[in-house]
Order: sequence, then structure tokens, then C-alpha cells
Amino acid sequence: MTDDGKTALEGSGFPKKAVTSTFAAAEPIGAQSRIDEHDHQDVPSDPALRVKALESLLVEKGLVDPAALDVLVDTYENKIGPRNGARVVARAWADPAYKVRLLADAASAIAELGYTSGQGEHMVVVENGSTVHNLVVCTLCSCYPWPVLGLPPVWYKSAQYRSRAVIDPRGVLAEFGTYIDEEVEVRVWDSTAELRYIVLPERPAGTDDFSEERLAALVTRDAMIGVSKVLLPEEKS
Ligand code: FE
Repeated sequence: MTDDGKTALEGSGFPKKAVTSTFAAAEPIGAQSRIDEHDHQDVPSDPALRVKALESLLVEKGLVDPAALDVLVDTYENKIGPRNGARVVARAWADPAYKVRLLADAASAIAELGYTSGQGEHMVVVENGSTVHNLVVCTLCSCYPWPVLGLPPVWYKSAQYRSRAVIDPRGVLAEFGTYIDEEVEVRVWDSTAELRYIVLPERPAGTDDFSEERLAALVTRDAMIGVSKVLLPEEKS
């Protein structure tokens, strides 16, 4: 939740229907906990309970080592995520030679910065510019470049996003608060298990003297999916 009581998804401007339906199952638990949060512990969500049951069974049967699971969870919760992608983008903005390598062979250039993991063996970076805006979707399911962006947001997996990003990309972008001039071409890229796309956003004007670290702090997950642009803090409303 944000300070104004919206969920992050609502705040992002993604179609409310998708947000509402996705969270419908979880809402009663959260709503209940707000009403009498001191009376009892929250009941875990249905998927969480199912995962826990599955984990218990696999461990009990000796098929899975709990320590290995802990390492995996820690990796995807703490080590892999959009901050990695933001550092890649900042490096590409700051180092033209790196950008050339990134556009030519994304997986190798990303591995130069130490970001490697499953679900990222074949990645392609597409560059936004004054004449082209790129948008990434996986129409079939939720293919996503894990080494640089972590796990996909819920809306990325929603049927609404997957279909409407193709049918009406400008409309979807507008719902994220991203308005693309008519003369700018919008290209939609369909990620698959074999090939996952990442957007190299446009570097905002007025950042010539920014350090790489400061540039990275500006880059958001949504900008690397292509639903947003990278904005300076004063440009955000
Ligand atoms: Fe997929």
C-alpha cells in the first residue's frame, strides 16, 4: 500500500479491473487484519498455504533440501531484482562502449556486471529513443528477464495486460500515465521462454553530471518493461 491507501498496482495506473480481480482473493484477509489486527494472527493466503504444504511433503520425502530452498528464496528476494537492471541501464547511459555491447549481446554484457541466473540465458535489449518507444509483454504467459528484473509483477501476468498490450499499446501506456506522441512509433515485443526483452529507456535530460549510481536510482522496473519513462524526481507528480 502507498500512503494514499492505493495498492502499488493501482498507483501505477494499470487497469483497475485487472488489479481488482488479481487481488480479490487476498483482500478479505488484509481487510480483516485491518479491522481487528490485534486479535489473531493473519491466516496465510491460499497459495502460501499450498506452497507450504508442497514444501513439507517434498522435504518429508527427502526430495528437497530445505537449505537449498532457503538459498533460492533469498536469491530471488534479496539478490535478484530490478536494481540489477537499473545498474545495467545506468552503465549503458554512462559508457557508450558498454551500450554497444549490451545492444549486440545482452546476456554477455549483463553477465559482465555479474548478473546471471536462470531465465535469462537469451535476452535482447531494445532501446527507446526520440522516434521509437518499446513495450514488452509475454502474450503466452509471463516470460521475463529474471537476472535483471527479478520476478514479474502480478499485472504483467494478467490476461488483460497480455492481450491489451498488443491490441492497444498506446491505451495501456496511457493507463500507466505514459503518453507517447503520435509521431513516435510504439513497438511491442513478445517475450518467450527462449528470448526475453528488456527496454533501455531514454536517459532523462539534465542528467549529464549524474554519477552512475545516481542514474541507476532513477531507473524503475516499469521503465525497463516499457510501460513508463524514466523521470527526474521533480517530473513525477
Ligand atoms: Fe511466458
